Amino acid sequence: MRDPQSIAVNEDARMIPVWSIVVAIAAFVLVEYYFWLVLPDQQHHAPPLGFRIYFNLSWGVLAALYFLMVGYVSKDAPRRAMSSRFWMAICFVMPCGIGAVLYFLLRQPEVSRCPACSTHVQSDFHFCPQCNYQLTANCGNCFRTVRATDQFCTRCGHELSGDHMPARLRVLG
Ligand SMILES: [Zn+2]
Ligand SMILES: [Zn+2]
Repeated sequence: MRDPQSIAVNEDARMIPVWSIVVAIAAFVLVEYYFWLVLPDQQHHAPPLGFRIYFNLSWGVLAALYFLMVGYVSKDAPRRAMSSRFWMAICFVMPCGIGAVLYFLLRQPEVSRCPACSTHVQSDFHFCPQCNYQLTANCGNCFRTVRATDQFCTRCGHELSGDHMPARLRVLG
């Protein structure tokens, strides 16, 4: 029962950057342009219109999704202390979105920053590995996470008011 509000500074208001939306729209338009105007000139007998609409729109949407995906990775990777350049390159290079699938399989747990020293900390950390700042409220006896309002530990019954002031109270002021 961690309290994400105490440590996570929510920077993910916009997870898909503007540039990737612009590129995605441009990619969609380009694909449509190619399939509707360039390709028919090279074909001797065009396929039925219904098929063409389905086929052309699918490729356009796929191309747009590709760039939205890369944009998302560029925002999501830093939150997990992963290299956004490396993973954007992987998403670009791997065909058929395999790079994106790999990213979702391999991505690390989300990290936030220590309020005291700005070190990246994972959401399951209780203490900052660099400065020992207490990131979540813990029982001083069994070190399990407790809630900010608890007086006694729900696991071992330890009286929490005897412990050092937990980080959450410092955060709340
Ligand atoms: Zn720290
Ligand atoms: Zn306890």
